[in-house]
Amino acid sequence: VFSNVQTAPSIEVFALTEQFKKDSNPNKVNLTVGAYRTEECKPWVLPVVKTVEAQLAADDTLDKEYLPVTGLPDFCASAVAVCFGEGHPVLLSQRADGIQALGGTGALRLGYDFLRCILGRDTIYVSKPTWGNHKGIAQQCGYPNVREYRYWLASGRCLDEQGMLEDLTAAPEGSVIVLHGVAHNPTGCDPTPEQWEKILAVIKQRNLFPLIDLAYQGFASGDLDRDGRVPRLFADHNMEFFVAQSFSKNFGLYNERVGNLAIVTQSAEITGRVKSQVRNIIRKTWSNPPSHGARVVATVLRNPALAAEWRENIKRMAERIVLMRQMLFQKLRALGTPGNWQHITDQIGMFSYTGLSAAQAEYLRTNYAIYIMSDGRINMSGLTSKTVDRVAQAMHEAVTK
Ligand code: PLP
Repeated sequence: VFSNVQTAPSIEVFALTEQFKKDSNPNKVNLTVGAYRTEECKPWVLPVVKTVEAQLAADDTLDKEYLPVTGLPDFCASAVAVCFGEGHPVLLSQRADGIQALGGTGALRLGYDFLRCILGRDTIYVSKPTWGNHKGIAQQCGYPNVREYRYWLASGRCLDEQGMLEDLTAAPEGSVIVLHGVAHNPTGCDPTPEQWEKILAVIKQRNLFPLIDLAYQGFASGDLDRDGRVPRLFADHNMEFFVAQSFSKNFGLYNERVGNLAIVTQSAEITGRVKSQVRNIIRKTWSNPPSHGARVVATVLRNPALAAEWRENIKRMAERIVLMRQMLFQKLRALGTPGNWQHITDQIGMFSYTGLSAAQAEYLRTNYAIYIMSDGRINMSGLTSKTVDRVAQAMHEAVTK
């Protein structure tokens, strides 16, 4: 039965991490994975998460009963409040509602599935380049047309505004447009507020459906409200759209799989109908979600003191990333490395799209045991003040050799 099954291609980020683990070089550095690291280069369980986990462990009223299919109601309500800001009209009018999902990936999957299966949408656009999974999930959902819109202008290391607007304008009516709400992965380059206005205008005029992927709220600026500007802009313009929220990064809850699909429609009644359809998709997919991570998030967000502590934790992560950007930039400048490295400090979020080629990435790995993605993407939080000099030196060599 299985003898003709071909081995599937490896997933680069996981394959490199495996290779990294086996590497015996004591000075090895892993800049591939999309997870936060401390100044000691360790994963960080947020202090506020530890506090709440201890509280939950001691709470005898909690049990292991199934959650509702659409998730923990307190979690869903808190998640949409983080996305749009407490008191936003879409919340007060109940035009927005949330559905718990298995991470941001699960939220995307639910959104894609609903749009494909219930609304019959057949064309979906993702940015070029984009997070590796955006296209794959669409293919898995059976979209016949998975397309790209231009996004990155390599020559200027900036947004290809004209290309993006042209491609969106040419997209067939009703196409699903996947947008990165903040801290574009992998480029770290977001449209300016003025550019977002133009993008929104085309989406509206062409009757396209926006699906905003919000995986890094708080990570870009350290400020949840600032990083939530894009969904709020779409809501302010009375648009109908989905937001796939992830709490993996901003809560450091990667393996707990905590995500939320926020639904915004023209009325509370329509939102309820859409939610009921998504509920049926969940029932047939994973039946109901896990509770632990969602309980942690809901407990934090429902308690002003804990929520304030969480904001401080996020700020700490965001500030360390900014510091690493500055240090790497200054070091490359000091070395006189050819090229303009300003983009390292201009880009935002967890990643930097260095502009290094696949061959240069390979050079770093084989000569220095420094692991970066073949498209040149590096996780800035994988750097520390102890490793940044060596990484800069290796980059310098890779560029000048
Ligand atoms: N969207 C983007 C742009 C991401 O970078 C990621 C994770 O790296 C996700 C979605 C998925 O997040 P999660 O781990 O919560 O599924």
